[in-house]
Amino acid sequence: MNNDPAVRLQDYQVFGEFGDVNPSISDAATYTFLSVEKMQQLFSEEVEGCFLYSRHMSPMNHYLTQALAAIEGTEDANVMASGMGAISTCLLQLCGCGDEIVSSRTIYGGTYALLKNFFPKLGINTHFVNITKLDEVKSKINEKTKVIYCETISNPLLEIADIRELRKIADERGIKLVVDNTFSPMVVPAYELGAHIVVYSLTKFINGTNDCVAGAVCGPHDFIASMRNVNDGAAMLLGPVLDSFRSASILKNLRTLHIRMKKHSENAMFIASELEKAGVKVFYPGLPSHPQHELIKSMINPKYGYSGMITIDAKDAETAGNLMICMQEAKVGYFAVSLGFYKTLFSSPGSSTSSEIPKEEQEAMGMTPGLVRFSMGLDNDIQDTLERILGCMKKVGLLK
Ligand SMILES: *Cc1c(COP(=O)(O)O)cnc(C)c1O
Repeated sequence: MNNDPAVRLQDYQVFGEFGDVNPSISDAATYTFLSVEKMQQLFSEEVEGCFLYSRHMSPMNHYLTQALAAIEGTEDANVMASGMGAISTCLLQLCGCGDEIVSSRTIYGGTYALLKNFFPKLGINTHFVNITKLDEVKSKINEKTKVIYCETISNPLLEIADIRELRKIADERGIKLVVDNTFSPMVVPAYELGAHIVVYSLTKFINGTNDCVAGAVCGPHDFIASMRNVNDGAAMLLGPVLDSFRSASILKNLRTLHIRMKKHSENAMFIASELEKAGVKVFYPGLPSHPQHELIKSMINPKYGYSGMITIDAKDAETAGNLMICMQEAKVGYFAVSLGFYKTLFSSPGSSTSSEIPKEEQEAMGMTPGLVRFSMGLDNDIQDTLERILGCMKKVGLLK
């Protein structure tokens, strides 16, 4: 297997019905059969190239799953209608009533709310830990634990999960390590490093155009097939299906992911180091000042950099708010949640993407009210962008 995810994707080649350079979009919910036996067979096992019903699998979703599996280096994948659809079905496939999850406390707000508020209704309880403290992770695992859950680069403080070490802990206890790699596709080869299962919100970097929500679960074929099982598969039975037309547009966007990731990373590295030099408190894994810089350096595919996410401390909520409005007026980007877009996006995690996390818990995690999270865009003149950001920082009193 080539160790460059972009080369593996490039070698994934499919034709349309008429030799089209993009695969044909199947506009169907159901598929005809020429024999009774074949239909019976499909209800009991997967048959290559045969489709039953589009909630189970459709040709275009199949192509997208194979392209994502090629990038991640996994045997197989499933695509869903959102990142949350992927995360919830993956975890429900692994856990049932009475089971427990040990999760990083610094995770996407929606996932946090799912684990903290929704899963307990199903008898699935979660212990939240500081994922950078491996002893704390170990101490919360017991005979009920089924999953260790974390994000490679976490939201919003950009802490790094040591996937290699977490895998060792999971294997010692015979449980699964599930990693959300949404912030670092291609950048961090999460599966190669040791994740049993890798989940994605395709909505972000992978699609890159902010025109839809979608998600994926990448992993070994047996697990992925179990999610689509007609009798007890969470994806099949809960039904968060991605539409074929969306799937087709995501597959096309995927073809430029490697170029975009390099540019997002290059721009983020430049802005992060310049802002740090100017005296701003900056969190960026690519900076030597990041407490886990050496760790992430040992995990990345160097040619893709350190991804496009930067968090800064703008001192207090009011300054952070003024800064974001000023930057939007200066056309630095948009004051909006989400990430991985061609334009820069910025938001204040405490009052938006992490607002599901109670204030006291935010404090314990080191989340201060003045944090501003940036998802750096694909700006061609990043020096000009820097000047606009610095101009706004002076205007709102963050810099002199
Ligand atoms: C956005 C996001 C999700 C949820 O994905 P949706 O596509 O919005 O459902 C999950 N994890 C992370 C890290 C995210 O950024």
